Amino acid sequence: MSRYVFGPVPSRRLGRSLGVDLVPFKTCSYDCIYCQLGRTTSKTVDRQEWVPLAEVVDEVQKHLSSEPDYITLSGSGEPTLHARVGELIARLKEITAIPVAVLTNGSLLWREDVRRQLLGADLVVPSLDAGDESMFRLVNRPHPEIPFERMLAGLIAFRRQFRGEYWLEVFILGAYTSIPAELAKLAECVRRIKPDRVQLNTVTRPPTEKYAAGVPPERLAGLSSIFQPPAEVIADFRDVHREPEFAAGREEILAMLRRRPCSVDDIAGGLGMHRNEVVKYLEELNAENLLEQSLVADKLYYQVAKEISL
Ligand code: SF4
Repeated sequence: MSRYVFGPVPSRRLGRSLGVDLVPFKTCSYDCIYCQLGRTTSKTVDRQEWVPLAEVVDEVQKHLSSEPDYITLSGSGEPTLHARVGELIARLKEITAIPVAVLTNGSLLWREDVRRQLLGADLVVPSLDAGDESMFRLVNRPHPEIPFERMLAGLIAFRRQFRGEYWLEVFILGAYTSIPAELAKLAECVRRIKPDRVQLNTVTRPPTEKYAAGVPPERLAGLSSIFQPPAEVIADFRDVHREPEFAAGREEILAMLRRRPCSVDDIAGGLGMHRNEVVKYLEELNAENLLEQSLVADKLYYQVAKEISL
């Protein structure tokens, strides 16, 4: 089983995406209330070689025959916390022509070294979930060394330097950022950042905090025109795991959850899958109302909804 590479998994934006996990599970500078991976266990801004670069490159090389559309640095924490992410992108560019994407929370782009290291990527997708300091603290629960204005300045500075595609993901939370005053602040930040695309997202997966609620798709679509450029709602791929290539994993997970409640770790360990691959399947099963979830000692457990399992 691969330790750092997973998939290809179907991605809403990137087609068949080969995921690369560069930090240990939930090593992140944020602790977002909507995170589908549970609470952050290691909240840090410490950049180091969390996983060995040579092994990551080796694993990616072994997966290239799967012909993904993108190699995506994302995973179960914040990828820019890896101190050698720039070298990794350079190595990937040497071994393949497959484009490299980085999905980042954007919290470290105020650092010149982080911006420089990402310049070799083809696509960078940072997030922006709040339009001011107080909402930032409520929604993202960032590390104390990341004030809102510093984070925002990083998003703006990277846009000026980066020549690749820059898509900004804006996560809208019901009763938090879905109200007009907060949306106006978000739109103003986006206007200053000037991304190539704005992509709206909301809660469709089991969130860490039950009070993190989504907004309906029609409402998201109605918000498109307040952003510049007009935002697109990220399409829902909920049925993609019914395709033959991915159907086996879906059935195995359902069979396991029929037997007993399991965490993401239980499923990944039990089925020899990467956590992030498991999360993708759970996201879809949850969207189809096939699952129930419970939070026990800060850990999310899933089981098949009772009416389905009878
Ligand atoms: S959603 Fe992303 S940025 Fe937020 S806590 Fe989870 S891994 Fe970190």
